[in-house]
Amino acid sequence: MSAASTPLLDEYRLDGDGLEVQNPASGDHVATVKDYSVDEVEAAIAAAKAAMPAWAARTAKDRAGVLRRWFTLIMDHQEDLAQLVTAECGKPLAESRGEVAYGASFVEWFAEEGKRAYGEVIPTHNPAARIVVVKQPVGVVSAITPWNFPVAMITRKAAPALAAGCPMIVKPAEATPLSALAIEKLALDAGLPEGLFKIVTTREPAKIGEVLTTHPDIRKISFTGSTAVGKILMRQAAGTVKRTSMELGGNAPFIVFDDADLDKAVAGAIASKYRNAGQTCVCANRFYVQSGIYDAFVTKFSEAVAALKVGDGVVDGTDVGPLINSAAMEKVSGLVKSAMNAGADAIVGGAPAGIGGNFYQPTVLANTTPDMEISSAEIFGPVAPVFKFEDEADVIALANSTPYGLAAYFYARDLGRVWRVAEALEYGMVGVNEGILSTEVAPFGGVKESGIGREGARQGLDEYLETKYMLMGGL
Ligand code: ADP
Repeated sequence: MSAASTPLLDEYRLDGDGLEVQNPASGDHVATVKDYSVDEVEAAIAAAKAAMPAWAARTAKDRAGVLRRWFTLIMDHQEDLAQLVTAECGKPLAESRGEVAYGASFVEWFAEEGKRAYGEVIPTHNPAARIVVVKQPVGVVSAITPWNFPVAMITRKAAPALAAGCPMIVKPAEATPLSALAIEKLALDAGLPEGLFKIVTTREPAKIGEVLTTHPDIRKISFTGSTAVGKILMRQAAGTVKRTSMELGGNAPFIVFDDADLDKAVAGAIASKYRNAGQTCVCANRFYVQSGIYDAFVTKFSEAVAALKVGDGVVDGTDVGPLINSAAMEKVSGLVKSAMNAGADAIVGGAPAGIGGNFYQPTVLANTTPDMEISSAEIFGPVAPVFKFEDEADVIALANSTPYGLAAYFYARDLGRVWRVAEALEYGMVGVNEGILSTEVAPFGGVKESGIGREGARQGLDEYLETKYMLMGGL
């Protein structure tokens, strides 16, 4: 079934004016969806507020039942949803299927974890009183999500919010509203009461974003996107002291030490760098390879990169799809050109793929130096700059010399080094001899300007719970 005809979407499609969705591989028009007004978003907030008490009053097991049905429906529609993801965001179908399963895994996980929102009883300071601590839902939550994981970045927020008892209003990225609308429909089909999970699509993110960060009935904003926009949203949210969760940009180092298993390091590098054409916030951005293994790594890595197939994500065997739009092409091309002008060598790639549209060649740049813009910019494209380093202390300093602190990766076998480096890296997540670390069971998130809060794991549920201390006196 083609994405353009999926039944999940038919009720949302508009003939008239609205938010237009384009296929980044072909440039074709995929659909037009509603462009929400401020009044309509305010009505959605009012509906969420009205729906919350009954939902929060249900038992966690009861809420879990609804979430569990939602999980099952998402997986029943895995193929349809994957087609939509590829149609609007471009990633290869195999990756889209993986994303749908990954997105659904949060719904399954938090259906269970919602049952464990434990409080505590604290030994008292006063014989005539008892101290009880309970966890309560934060309230109505808003979310703003990016286009690179149009399903998973929504479920990773909505599932814990709903499990905790909070309604959520989500503004998806302009490029990818269709998968969001499809999972909203599946939530309603699963029996989620109206008003609790609302997708508001818009052509004007700043206008709707302002409502979602300033409205007094919103208690929390959860955002995934760029650090620049995250800072705007935090400033806006400050006016009413909303809680925030921020999953922001990254500049992930990927370090290969002399004692690494070379084949595993190359496989991890490919997975970390070229997934979603390099368009994830945890994609390796800077490769640091120790001098003794540098040439061998560059050779093997380049061979593997040269074998990657670029093309439309719907074509079987495609490894690397298009970039999201022409602005992304310009940015990636500009970074590569400026590195090459400053002395970097393109061992593989180094230019647009020459098949039209937004396709860029998977690229390996050798002889890159830390002063080049490509070492500090978030590349968000299939380009791997490979730097040479000599010793451990230097590479730790280089890896940490960024305002970002989301994910870091390194390959080494010496046990002492593994512990030293893992502890010294100022990052929220460290992959040791692994190039992919996202899973619903572990806390995802960054430090420094990469964000605040964690998603997934039990920490992900805490983001939607308040702690209330009750002193039971007069005993
Ligand atoms: P990216 O570079 O990945 O597109 P952005 O931070 O620009 O990252 O976008 C992530 C999300 O933030 C998208 O849903 C986008 O619509 C939204 N967004 C962008 N600018 C604003 C803004 N000023 N206010 C609210 N949301 C915004």
